[in-house]
Amino acid sequence: MRKFYVTTPIYYANAPPHIGGVYTTLAADVLSRWKRLKGYDVFFLTGLDEHGKKIQETAKQSGKDPKSFLDAIAEKYRLLFRKLGFEYSNFIRTTDSYHEKRVIELLKDLYSKGYIYKGVYEAYYCVGCEQYLKKSDLVDGKCPLHNRTVELRKEEAYLFRLSQFQGELLKVIKSGEFEILPFSRRKEVISFIEQGLSDISISRRKSDVEWGIPLPFDKDHTCYVWIDAFWNYVSGLQEKFSVFWPPDVQFMANDILRVHATIWPALLLAAGLSLPKKLFIHGYFTVDGRKMSKSLGNVVDPFEMVEKYGVDALRYFLMRNIPFGQDGDFSEKGLVERYNNELVNKLGNLVSRVEGLIERNGLERCEVTLLKSLNEEKIERYFENFEFDKVLNEIFRFIDFCNEVIQRSKPWETGDRKILYELKEGILKVAELLWPFIPSSCDEIRKRFSAEKIIKNKPLFKKIS
Ligand SMILES: [Zn+2]
Repeated sequence: MRKFYVTTPIYYANAPPHIGGVYTTLAADVLSRWKRLKGYDVFFLTGLDEHGKKIQETAKQSGKDPKSFLDAIAEKYRLLFRKLGFEYSNFIRTTDSYHEKRVIELLKDLYSKGYIYKGVYEAYYCVGCEQYLKKSDLVDGKCPLHNRTVELRKEEAYLFRLSQFQGELLKVIKSGEFEILPFSRRKEVISFIEQGLSDISISRRKSDVEWGIPLPFDKDHTCYVWIDAFWNYVSGLQEKFSVFWPPDVQFMANDILRVHATIWPALLLAAGLSLPKKLFIHGYFTVDGRKMSKSLGNVVDPFEMVEKYGVDALRYFLMRNIPFGQDGDFSEKGLVERYNNELVNKLGNLVSRVEGLIERNGLERCEVTLLKSLNEEKIERYFENFEFDKVLNEIFRFIDFCNEVIQRSKPWETGDRKILYELKEGILKVAELLWPFIPSSCDEIRKRFSAEKIIKNKPLFKKIS
């Protein structure tokens, strides 16, 4: 059986789920469902990054020990992901013992090979980013992302010889062996690497960051974010590693592209593992045309959206309105418009008209020429390129066509049972192709149209006023 391995980033567990994480994980879910339909054996990994100073501090502020703080956050994620219908294969937490074990093995391996050495690290550190920044990244001496003053730190640390991999990284990226998509992102990465890579610190003193995996060769230090976080993609497969490695595609937003295009493949090269085939970078979205931020009070709560509009409305809108790989906009007004215009008026109406006509006239089996108007090859190509909005556009073009066929052939006058049979087959095809996006509605459509006796049911989607 052909295999397919897709990952999302692991989300930093110092806060409840964010709409951005929902978006990435949804895309991975849609793709996984499509690949399963196509007969692939799929592994879909998502989860949480649970170590580091910020978690240590946030837990302390909320009066909890880190573990019970994290358990509560993980439960919120699982609950939301379940509500959204995400069928992941594993939800990894970097505090899971199987993960910690693999990280310790890696650290020992890299240390014994000389890729990790003790040195001094001096750089500008942003507590918000939980990482060192280059001088060129700073704006007025501040972290541009967090708008806070950075500290110049000099400390004893263990370093990973990232600089040693510069040439090889450029080679695998330029050759496409390690593909970065969309293409514009690849160009950015290449020019970033060509400016030169420095060795990176992979540890913190335990007195500074206690909540981390202790280095197996120096118990006074804990492993610092990147090695621990990246290795989830390896450890998360557990006993299925040999079947699924390497990832076929890894989805992420642009903020973590640089590290995923440098530190991550360098670690794999150092460990002697093959590289992921593709990284795909999706865009950010604004809310009502503005940047989402707490101070503007426009942070989208994914739980609230699901409660208010239902799972399929949210899934559909996120995949339809924001082209994957580009920036886009989220607005409740837009969501309601698309839901009413596309799901209610186009799909819902088609289903309900055909149900009613079949109930009154019945069906007569015949050759289904209607499906020739559906370009499945095109849909497949769009899926392969992660152009989910275009997939939906193509399917809805066919739904429009089916609605036109009803108008034109007037089966309510002619009682043409053959055209109703064709329409039924068309609708079942639509339910198959839309299933990765709106699974529960499609399951319902299939149930209705596979029934012994097809009758007019209640509307599939209720109009939102
Ligand atoms: Zn920062």
